[in-house]
Amino acid sequence: MTYQIEVSVKCPNCGKSMMNDAVLVDGLPSIELEVAVDKQHGRLYLSQIYGSYEKIFEGVEDVPDAVVQCSCPACHNLLPIVKTCTCKAPVASVNLEMGGSVNFCTRNGCRAHSLEFENSDDAFKLFLDRDESRYL
Ligand SMILES: [Zn+2]
Ligand SMILES: [Zn+2]
Repeated sequence: MTYQIEVSVKCPNCGKSMMNDAVLVDGLPSIELEVAVDKQHGRLYLSQIYGSYEKIFEGVEDVPDAVVQCSCPACHNLLPIVKTCTCKAPVASVNLEMGGSVNFCTRNGCRAHSLEFENSDDAFKLFLDRDESRYL
């Protein structure tokens, strides 16, 4: 039996939801980011499934190992950088709709380029939420 954690996120700057239900990744609404790689500007859609590496680039090339500058599609402010990944790229942070935050490495293809919970209690809460919704 596999458990799947889905995360809905919002911008830490303006508080708007970053979920895009017009672009599906892993069959679910994606997490939309405005991105810049070198001189290219476009969009990046990440899977909302915790642990998934699925993503779609739009308007920018999918360059392996390129560091992607991420900003909010609504307010266009850069996402806060909370630390440096083991690969030396900045790690950006977004807020969970339900509170708490998740981090992801901004280097394309880095193994840490998936959602990481700042606080493991947040992951636990999501597990509980899913359990409840299943039996409603
Ligand atoms: Zn914003
Ligand atoms: Zn990394």
